[in-house]
Amino acid sequence: MTPISMTINLAYVVAATLFIVGLKLLSHPSSARRGNLVSSIGMLIAVVVTLLDQQIISYTYIIIGVVIGGAIGAWKAKTVQMTAMPQMVSLFNGFGGAASLLLAWATLSAIAPESRSAVSLFVFISLYFTLLVGGVTFSGSIVAWGKLAEKFPTKAIIFTGLRELSILHLIGLVVVGYLFVTQPENPLWLWLGIGLALSFGLWATLSIGGADMPVVIALLNSYSGVAACAAGLAVANTVLIVTGLLVGASGLILTSIMCKAMNRSLSNVLLSGFATPVEAGEKIEGDIKVLSAQDAYYVLEAAQAVLVVPGYGMAVAQAQHAVRELQSLLESNGATVEYAIHPVAGRMPGHMNVLLAEADVPYDHLLEMDDVNPRMENYDVVIVIGANDVVNPAAKEMKGSPIYGMPVIEAYRAKTVFVLKRSANPGFAGVDNPLFFKDNTRMVLGDAKETINSVIREFGDD
Ligand code: NDP
Repeated sequence: MTPISMTINLAYVVAATLFIVGLKLLSHPSSARRGNLVSSIGMLIAVVVTLLDQQIISYTYIIIGVVIGGAIGAWKAKTVQMTAMPQMVSLFNGFGGAASLLLAWATLSAIAPESRSAVSLFVFISLYFTLLVGGVTFSGSIVAWGKLAEKFPTKAIIFTGLRELSILHLIGLVVVGYLFVTQPENPLWLWLGIGLALSFGLWATLSIGGADMPVVIALLNSYSGVAACAAGLAVANTVLIVTGLLVGASGLILTSIMCKAMNRSLSNVLLSGFATPVEAGEKIEGDIKVLSAQDAYYVLEAAQAVLVVPGYGMAVAQAQHAVRELQSLLESNGATVEYAIHPVAGRMPGHMNVLLAEADVPYDHLLEMDDVNPRMENYDVVIVIGANDVVNPAAKEMKGSPIYGMPVIEAYRAKTVFVLKRSANPGFAGVDNPLFFKDNTRMVLGDAKETINSVIREFGDD
């Protein structure tokens, strides 16, 4: 090993170590910023060293790419709304997949046709695998972006013949893969492989329902790592293999956490397009009872134990600071206030934890669903703030419901439930919510932040 290659490998080890330290720091809101910075430094080292390691003929296109990409990235990072972060993360996953796909394509094009027979089979298998996973990640992430941004329907799109089409598609991917690897000089297999991968990612994600999207997003994140790892194998780049593995493995761990949170097996989520469509849920009986913010105040003023269940609507309303203020007022009034966090509340893992940390809600006030459900009867009032699917009792009561079996926060078992949202519309999963019709539920309609501020004003007037 020459001193130069030793230095390069050493720099790769430093970069990989920084990625691992960065990942560790990302696991807590208070150290997450530092984790981002440490990982970015690792990435900078990896990119610079990789460029120095190659015989780059001209840096022109590389610099143009860095400037344009960097400018778009910086502009998006500065202007993105907090509520649009999940769809942006989904796009990042997709771009990771697209980058791997393009790398595989460029690598294949760089191998002169006459020298292809001298290239090992392993390289072509890695290239095909990269195209496949990169393509599925790209198109799947675009659909996930559309669902999160509510530009596409969030419900599963299932049609007759989907199961047969899926099987044919999978067979096609294997057959084209064999032809690609054995006849790499024929561009038809490259085009067919890319086309099949893109279309597979597209409708495989379309056929998965809104409530299962957390699993899909975590899995797509993992795929983007797997695609990068396969690309690293094809171009023999150590740092790409290591980073790909880190992303792939952390994405898989997250997928498993999300599956557990949804009480679904991975195969159950992925093969939902193969399953027989579920029958429409039963009709919900009863009336919705609406309460004003002023009347909600009278009940809260007398409450001793209050539980807050935040959801995506709290993020939309940016109500976290108002919630924190209400917590202080209730505590000064002698009540205990706790928060129940569902693992898939909001639109990204840890969404509620980040928002509540931003509003200085003490971490020890945050309880997990499994800790809170057994003692739900002890709460005088549960305030559901912009949450819907994560408190939907249809998951327990309605066998035909698409969310049947998903663990939920059982707010309906508390003495009184206040639901703060703008209407009785369903949540992300598109499933009606029987909680709104329960005898002990009162809906306080309106923007969550305005409603909470109205209650806060009532405390002030007191
Ligand atoms: P939901 O999407 O089920 O419900 C959010 C509710 O917030 C809506 O019903 C909406 O009702 C209400 N809302 C919106 N804006 C406001 C506002 N300004 N003020 C008051 N209320 C408002 O959210 P949950 O958190 O309960 O559930 C999360 C869902 O997202 C689950 O289905 C989960 O599977 C899915 N998901 C989660 C991901 C994750 O990683 N956490 C990723 C992808 C999907 P209205 O319009 O009537 O106001």
